[in-house]
Amino acid sequence: MERILDVNDLRVNFKVRGGVVQAVRGVTFHVNKGEAVAIVGESGCGKSVTAQSLMRLIPSPPAQMSGSINFKGQEILSKTDKQMEDIRGKEMGMIFQDPMTSLNPTMTIGRQIMEGLIKHQGLSSEAAKKRAVEMLSLVGIPNPASRVKQYPHEFSGGMRQRAMIAIALACNPSLLIADEPTTALDVTIQAQILEVMKNLQKQFGTSIILITHDLGVVADMCDRVIVMYAGKVVETGTKWEIFKNPQHPYTKGLLRSVPRLDQKKDEPLVPIFGTPPDLIKPPVGCSFCARCDYAMKVCLTNDPELESVDGGSHAASCWLSHPLAKGVSV
Ligand code: SF4
Ligand code: MG
Repeated sequence: MERILDVNDLRVNFKVRGGVVQAVRGVTFHVNKGEAVAIVGESGCGKSVTAQSLMRLIPSPPAQMSGSINFKGQEILSKTDKQMEDIRGKEMGMIFQDPMTSLNPTMTIGRQIMEGLIKHQGLSSEAAKKRAVEMLSLVGIPNPASRVKQYPHEFSGGMRQRAMIAIALACNPSLLIADEPTTALDVTIQAQILEVMKNLQKQFGTSIILITHDLGVVADMCDRVIVMYAGKVVETGTKWEIFKNPQHPYTKGLLRSVPRLDQKKDEPLVPIFGTPPDLIKPPVGCSFCARCDYAMKVCLTNDPELESVDGGSHAASCWLSHPLAKGVSV
């Protein structure tokens, strides 16, 4: 499979009063062409910072970034701001939770779709306008020819999110990063938006990184899952490996805390008690230690690496599933 993104040992630190927040702590993952990868975890686990780093949306300095983000053979971390402007919108698109903060209120929706087409693809204003109407129709907006002339405030929440998708996909980027794209919408609209994204992904062969805390959305849309906790990847695998055979106690906790389709009637939902560690002073050992029902002595002092649990791509960072612990019963 062709890889379009390779992230290696990504670290992002923020200086704040009182110290340095280690928001992302050595994250490694990849995305293949045409696949949808979910990044899941509680708020503050570093998933949004990771996503924004991919597009270099985090000003650095003041943030300190290290490691490597290889996107289609180019090192994102060593690009100039000017070079990034060309990559953003053209080769990478992003959809945020709240379209109102990323849409320009003073510009018609059509103009906002046209901008990228004129800038990145050198389309004439006429051709860009035609494409803008096509894009609005593709994302399921009725009367696209008159809708292109309207402003964001004339669109409903769901329609604004559709418009964001149209802007993000207008130049046919290889990678679409969607950060909680449907969280602010009600359930019916949410399902419609996901359907639009799924169809467009198939049609354009776009790779997607979907950031969400909604495991139902993951089950519906994604091929692979990356579970993050306290700035690290704690488990990764195919959707089925994660849902059917979770290894890390945190992943198991996440799955127990949300309703599932195969939920038995008398099976209760169990929240994960406690709070994530302070990332100004992350623990020496396993970051999940303070909340883990299985914590052992070794967990307090040694942080387990992400290791394959099946000899293949399903990997977890927990002493319980660590290859060194094979044959040891706990
Ligand atoms: Fe729990 Fe230890 Fe595994 Fe961490 S390494 S998740 S504390 S068992
Ligand atoms: Mg977030």
